[in-house]
Amino acid sequence: MTHTPTSATPASAAPAPATAVADIPALVTRLRTAFAGGRTKPLDRRLEQLAALRALLTEQAEEFQRALAADLGKSAAEAYRTEIGFTLHELDHTVAHLEEWLRPKPAAVPEVFRPAEARVVRDPLGVVLIIAPWNYPLQLALAPLVGALAAGNVAVVKPSELAPATSAAMARLLPRYLDPETVTVVEGAVPETTALLEQRFDHIFYTGNGTVGRIVMAAAARHLTPVTLELGGKSPVVVEPGADLALTARRIARGKFLNAGQTCVAPDYVLAVGGTAAGLEEQLAAAVHELYGDDPAASPAYGRIVNERHFDRLTALLADGRVVTGGGHDRAERYLAPTVLADVSPDAPVMTAEIFGPVLPIVTVPDLDAAIAFINERDKPLALYAFTESEATKQRLTEETSSGALTFGLPVSHLAMPELPFGGVGESGMGRYHGEYSIDTFSHAKAVVDKPLTDRPLA
Ligand code: NAD
Repeated sequence: MTHTPTSATPASAAPAPATAVADIPALVTRLRTAFAGGRTKPLDRRLEQLAALRALLTEQAEEFQRALAADLGKSAAEAYRTEIGFTLHELDHTVAHLEEWLRPKPAAVPEVFRPAEARVVRDPLGVVLIIAPWNYPLQLALAPLVGALAAGNVAVVKPSELAPATSAAMARLLPRYLDPETVTVVEGAVPETTALLEQRFDHIFYTGNGTVGRIVMAAAARHLTPVTLELGGKSPVVVEPGADLALTARRIARGKFLNAGQTCVAPDYVLAVGGTAAGLEEQLAAAVHELYGDDPAASPAYGRIVNERHFDRLTALLADGRVVTGGGHDRAERYLAPTVLADVSPDAPVMTAEIFGPVLPIVTVPDLDAAIAFINERDKPLALYAFTESEATKQRLTEETSSGALTFGLPVSHLAMPELPFGGVGESGMGRYHGEYSIDTFSHAKAVVDKPLTDRPLA
């Protein structure tokens, strides 16, 4: 059953033909048969597939970097750090702990049932569907796949059609490394995804926007299939007086303008508390200059907007405030400068929907009470960030707000800590993954009770 990575095959070979909608039912049936045969369950087999995935990511790193540059203008360094290296880190953490995570967990048995023993075992679910978006098209397809394979499942990976080069690279390369009987890539857009969603899966793991999240959940309901929805939303950054504004601005800018702002946990807007706005404006402009120089368009570290539709949507938001820095754009290049907007009204369009691009509005609020009220009046964010020196503020934000994650002083970082659960709450999603949380997501915690078939002698 060993599958040897065929790294000698040239990466530039002809692309795999796109999956025909009519072939999808048979493809899922084939995976289900492979799962039923038990080949994905033994620990050795899981580790072997994870090693093959590791080989794919290391041996084909340049191929993926080229694809990510074509799709999103990502520099090779950023592509490695946020996609390839990120997934390898997740994979290595999983491999290091998998045996321990899969060990049956003993459970206490009440006196009345003794000498029975009880334990929890983690059963693979079966056939898993992973639907990925375009913004981190490799990471968001393959990091969930790490969890799905580690938990002993077979999987369909559906990359985003809006990152076509990365989608094609995955379709071409995955079957050369991973057992094609147990992992399949289905390329395509709405028709292909709709056809997939008609099939019965044992789990659907969707990353993307909430509108499609609802379509996925409705389709899953027909088969009582559990779903994980990794969605987005507006992640606020609270900045309190007393925070070092130069350092704060540098860290906000780094998180915001990574991937040209197209990051689900990017700081969406700043809530400048009690007179911090003016200092922040100045320091954010300086931070952008420090990161991308006089002309961000010429900076290899700065990405591009994924397509014209998103470019047009984002440039329309520039009128919603006073441009502190940035604002420049070039449609032919899908370039939009890292932009900071001040004097933004809470009712402006830039404040009503997730920005998902390099535009950072600053909204002023008089005090922490107003900041907390502002956050709680809106959908629960995927992440909440704060810059404060006050432990009392940290305590209040922890206890009085709800968000997928909460970080003080370092936006976006929680994503890269595999011991932390990654996921949203309310409108920002349901379920979580990374590290052991992925094993929870992609397996069933089965209760097992075992009592000897002899009666205990009466005392
Ligand atoms: P997208 O347009 O690539 O869509 C995501 C996936 O849904 C794609 O594979 C696409 O083919 C599929 N899809 C699109 N329309 C569909 C339909 N009608 N029926 C079935 N499937 C369909 O990506 P997107 O939604 O633009 O991604 C951006 C959003 O994702 C943002 O809101 C962002 O915050 C969120 N996001 C969340 C995370 C997270 O981990 N929580 C990560 C990245 C992005």
